[in-house]
Amino acid sequence: MCGIVGYTGKREAYPIIIKGLRRLEYRGYDSAGVALVNEDGLKVYKKKGKVADLEDTLVGVNLHSHTGIGHTRWATHGEPSDRNAHPHTSQNGEIAMIHNGIIENYAQLKNELLKKGYTFKSDTDTEVLLNFIENIKTNNNSTLEEAVRIALRRIVGAYCILLVDKHDPETIIAARKGSPLVIGIGKGEHFLASDASPIIEYTKEVVYVNDYEMAIIRPDELILKNLGNEKQTPFITKLDMELAAIEKGGYDHFMLKEIFEQPTTIQDCLRGRLDAEAGTIIMSGIEKYIGQIMDAPRIIIVACGTSWHAGLVAEYIIEETCRIPVEVEYASEFRYRNPVVNKGDVIIAISQSGETADTLVAIEKAKEQGAIIVGIVNAVGSSIARVSHTGAYTHAGPEIGVASTKAFTAQLAVLTMVALKVGYAKGTLEKDRYLQLCKDLAEIPAKAAEVLKLDNQIKTLAEKYKDAPDFLYLGRGYNFPVALEGALKLKEISYIHAEGYPAAEMKHGPIALVTEVLPVVFVATKDNYHAKVVSNMQEIKARKGKVISIITEGDTVSPTLSDDVIILPPTDEILAPMLSAIPLQLLAYHIGVAKGYDVDKPRNLAKSVTVE
Ligand code: GLU
Repeated sequence: MCGIVGYTGKREAYPIIIKGLRRLEYRGYDSAGVALVNEDGLKVYKKKGKVADLEDTLVGVNLHSHTGIGHTRWATHGEPSDRNAHPHTSQNGEIAMIHNGIIENYAQLKNELLKKGYTFKSDTDTEVLLNFIENIKTNNNSTLEEAVRIALRRIVGAYCILLVDKHDPETIIAARKGSPLVIGIGKGEHFLASDASPIIEYTKEVVYVNDYEMAIIRPDELILKNLGNEKQTPFITKLDMELAAIEKGGYDHFMLKEIFEQPTTIQDCLRGRLDAEAGTIIMSGIEKYIGQIMDAPRIIIVACGTSWHAGLVAEYIIEETCRIPVEVEYASEFRYRNPVVNKGDVIIAISQSGETADTLVAIEKAKEQGAIIVGIVNAVGSSIARVSHTGAYTHAGPEIGVASTKAFTAQLAVLTMVALKVGYAKGTLEKDRYLQLCKDLAEIPAKAAEVLKLDNQIKTLAEKYKDAPDFLYLGRGYNFPVALEGALKLKEISYIHAEGYPAAEMKHGPIALVTEVLPVVFVATKDNYHAKVVSNMQEIKARKGKVISIITEGDTVSPTLSDDVIILPPTDEILAPMLSAIPLQLLAYHIGVAKGYDVDKPRNLAKSVTVE
């Protein structure tokens, strides 16, 4: 996954690069490093651990330079260590390179290079690509740009690479395929990064580099080319993002800030689209394709992780309101089997970053087979947004905490609007119910704010249950995916083993785990299945499990069966996941903090999964 930053211009490069790396640390924090070039040559500094560890080692070092590149790593090939940290230096010491992605044919290339006498200092695929480039450059006596172009024609895999050359201290060569790259355009300076967050405080004019494009960047020049060496016109986009959106704003962690932003982010997502009074939902991207969506023989939702859980909720909502069969697929599975996709099928691809590698490839595959792609993404201008036929942004603002929170509820808000809009247009959702759902949806932001008032109560619960070795999360219907999401949040943030299950299904196995020390979280807000969930609570209680239930105001039965209750304001069952997810996010957060973990940078994880 990795975060990549580059700078060339009049300012000192190091402070800009380090600040950028801190912003991109959500993408990986196994190691960090920088390569700086100036008239005196090329210097590389790198260190296992977080960006702060690198900074500590560089106190007092002369880092003067106006051109440099930096990297924060999420290891794929080779353990996290100083030696495997990027930037890597080519064998002759003249070129430094950073890389986000995986070179799939690295083993074959490495063998070829070994035969030519190359030796390797790291276990990475990156160093292989770099020496492959160096070898071409030396053999052909070519420029670095030419050598990169020739090398990339043989590369299988995904990459965003930045290179600097000791003999050309004002130039950065960049190229991408499958991993993101944004170039910020300043006055006499250029900024490069994996996303726009390191760039926004310097310029709002950016170019999103496309797959199979290369950029040659100097302070006063940006040349974009395809791999056939033809010049491309850079398409300049204006960034619509404020600096405050990517800072912690007084909260201890980004995750907590983002949980608390949800009333606003859900509102931002509805704003300008939902008019509950008039009973209208305006989504231009969906309107353009509404005929095709209404008539789709099938909708396939592809996503990964938390977005996959949002997809499961959407499956229930779309089938209920639009009467279209829906399948929800893990993108990573979908892309590698031989799925039946027919012309006219609609694929809804859900991704916070819009860069999820598996989802991107899954879309491309379905597109080839004639499907219509609807992208539901948060990051504006991201790859999935660009390759989709149409779609809708979730407008949740940058999500930096590695565990997704506000992006999930914003995805639910968008998917609900899509379902209501299509269902109403199709006639499968009756007018009265549609109008009522529009009104209920408009009230969700205020109700989310009510739920957040339970923060202190949930913090106390976290103290009480933090030492449990396992958790079980149960729910039915719309709340089943919420149970999965609750379990995932707990695993990610507190490293406690947790499983989510459909409440009735637990009798087919997980009930064997119930003991008096097993906390069982029931997502049991009022819905059509409520009586059944209450029976499942009885079954857990009868086996002395600890029951924590998330219920709706006015429920008098569940508290009698629960050790602890979290009471939510009422809403329609279709909309309940947007509220019931919030206490589960808070529970995971507070348990993680109580256990002393860095909840914004959980072990082994990275936010934007741009590798397979
Ligand atoms: N494959 C490279 C490495 O392991 C880059 C990893 C990545 O982009 O996640 O160092």
